Amino acid sequence: MLTELNNHKTSFFICPEDSCTGCTACMNVCSHAAISFIPDEEGFLHPSVDKGRCVNCGLCKSVCPVNTPVSRYLPEEVYSGWSNDGQVRLCSSSGGAFSAIAISILNQRGIVFGCTLNADLEAVHVGIERVEDLYRLQGSKYVQSRVEDSYKLAKQNLKTGRKVLFSGTPCQIAGLRSYLHKNYDNLCTVDIICHGVPSPKIFNDYKRHIAKKKRLRIENIQFRCKKYSWIFFSMSVNGYTEKGSARVEYIGNYYNDPYIRGFLRDNFLRPSCYSCQYCNIRRCSDFTIADWWGYQAEPGELSDFEKKGVSLIMCNSAKAVDMFTEIKQSMVLRQRTIEEAKRTNLSLSRPFAKPCTRDLFWKDYKTLSFDTMVSKYMYPERLTPSVYIWAKLPNTKIRRFLITFFVRCENLLRKLKCSFLIPHIHY
Ligand SMILES: Cc1cc2nc3c(=O)[nH]c(=O)nc-3n(C[C@H](O)[C@H](O)[C@H](O)COP(=O)(O)OP(=O)(O)OC[C@H]3O[C@@H](n4cnc5c(N)ncnc54)[C@H](O)[C@@H]3O)c2cc1C
Ligand code: SF4
Ligand code: SF4
Ligand code: SF4
Repeated sequence: MLTELNNHKTSFFICPEDSCTGCTACMNVCSHAAISFIPDEEGFLHPSVDKGRCVNCGLCKSVCPVNTPVSRYLPEEVYSGWSNDGQVRLCSSSGGAFSAIAISILNQRGIVFGCTLNADLEAVHVGIERVEDLYRLQGSKYVQSRVEDSYKLAKQNLKTGRKVLFSGTPCQIAGLRSYLHKNYDNLCTVDIICHGVPSPKIFNDYKRHIAKKKRLRIENIQFRCKKYSWIFFSMSVNGYTEKGSARVEYIGNYYNDPYIRGFLRDNFLRPSCYSCQYCNIRRCSDFTIADWWGYQAEPGELSDFEKKGVSLIMCNSAKAVDMFTEIKQSMVLRQRTIEEAKRTNLSLSRPFAKPCTRDLFWKDYKTLSFDTMVSKYMYPERLTPSVYIWAKLPNTKIRRFLITFFVRCENLLRKLKCSFLIPHIHY
């Protein structure tokens, strides 16, 4: 399928529709303002060209990173670790690596671009200039963010010689670099290791679903709330009850929240994510940040990381290595190898595959209610006793003992071909 480069009948194409990441480099480069973005049936934005304005210069096609990939780096240094500042770590999705980098730029009177939730709780990119505003960018928003005018604002600031930090998904960074068309010494880029971006349409339906279910006027959403745990991807939705002013907080996690379950089952990721060219160790940004999964505490280290979070940090360019010398002071770090990093994170090796249920999901989505979609595709997990204990209990010796015991029992039952005897418990 191809993205038709106009809203009428010409056969002018930018890139294959399923490869389009929605980065907006094409729109930003068009000096005739001929490109606008419109949502497709799944809620993902795609370029549409106004034939009346387009002069067929071909610039949009050549700037598109799908047609002309940007240059890449191989990581020079890899770390696991977390911020020294407990509050920063708490407000961040992993260990607070992004904030450590951002604070260094803001302290040099720079500007930092990243994703925030706006007043309508939609994910958009904005620029911030003060450390006090960093909270707006902290934390992952698991939904595709709209870049809006951030590329243009970044360019304006770069031209004045101001330091600019731009953070986002790898495809957004590739879009920015293609649009800028040259290297700036005062630009630093940070990308995330990316599982893929969910549809904004599903996120909007989820917000309505929770608001109705909990009778809530939603004020704020956190996608990786650490109140109970870091490893369980807890969604926290805050607001006021419809009738009174009582404050309500809903917290759902990996095992029982429909949105997080749906996200990790991959049915509503952007089509380009299943064949993503950035899910590997060749990076398009100075820094790459992510979760460090499966962290093992060293002797003497507190084993509170399952609650507080651990970052993976990759310094990909000489610029990043240089900058990180100072940033290191604000973090607790352990140097790692790229092979270790690959073991913690699948998206460093390959993109997640398109599930066989995806086409049916979107077919059903047109006719079924969101509640029915939840019970059909985003239902809560039923867990074996070992996983249930892992999910419910804190990381102590007793938990480790119980898990070992139940894993052995479950394996024995499987070996005896009696798996039907293993109970499955609702989380
Ligand atoms: C859609 C998505 C998929 C991800 N997939 C993985 C994965 O597979 N494996 C993994 O280890 N980590 C993944 N991450 C990254 C992870 O969740 C953390 O964001 C990352 O580890 C940084 O955490 P931090 O503690 O350093 O800082 P945080 O303060 O948590 O990081 C915030 C940073 O994330 C950026 N950001 C937040 N939401 C978005 C968004 N919607 N679009 C673009 N940028 C955004 C902000 O601009 C800011 O730079 C993903 C993040 C997102 C948004
Ligand atoms: S071909 Fe040129 S004028 Fe037409 S949409 Fe692309 S960039 Fe704009
Ligand atoms: S430049 Fe970006 S938004 Fe435009 S067609 Fe290419 S991938 Fe899609
Ligand atoms: S998986 Fe790839 S295409 Fe999808 S949002 Fe992430 S970087 Fe972009």
